[in-house]
Amino acid sequence: MCFRSNGGGMRVIVDVDGVIADFVGSFLRCYQDYGGEVPEGWVSRHWTAINTDLPNPEIALRVWGHPSLFRDMEAYPGAIEALKEMNDRYDVRIATMLPQPWDVHIPARIAWLGENVPFLLHKQLYFCHDKNILDGDWMIEDNVDNLKAWLNANDARKGALVNRSWNENEWRHALPANRVIYIPGLEWFSLTS
Ligand SMILES: [Mg+2]
Repeated sequence: MCFRSNGGGMRVIVDVDGVIADFVGSFLRCYQDYGGEVPEGWVSRHWTAINTDLPNPEIALRVWGHPSLFRDMEAYPGAIEALKEMNDRYDVRIATMLPQPWDVHIPARIAWLGENVPFLLHKQLYFCHDKNILDGDWMIEDNVDNLKAWLNANDARKGALVNRSWNENEWRHALPANRVIYIPGLEWFSLTS
């Protein structure tokens, strides 16, 4: 299946954490910064597991307030370039939710976006806990629950789930097969038109 433009007006809603930015990698660095140990080869098997599956859950909970958590994430290889290319073709909107403390994390996210995706305009950025308030043609997500809720709200919507370790056990039975594509990373779209 290709990702086709309908004359440049197609709106594509793009998530940040787990799609553009390596949130889990940043989480693990912050966890180590607070003294936590990460077992060799540890990978997140569900997006909620990062709270409970690391050896010290108390440290993991503290990490949610770490000032570097959303500021020092690394972009996934090729993701920024792919987003730039998409932005030249489509009506791209960034939709992102942030946990408490928002007075730390929202400025960090804005600074990160300004540094990593300066080609986007402020009107393309949405900070929303409920992404269903945003309408669009496609949503690119790594969170199965978010994508499922957005797709269920309108039968015309389509989704792209970025395959990550934390969603590989649930997506096959959770999402409508005829309206979802599965991609290894955002850069996949740079190969389509
Ligand atoms: Mg995400």
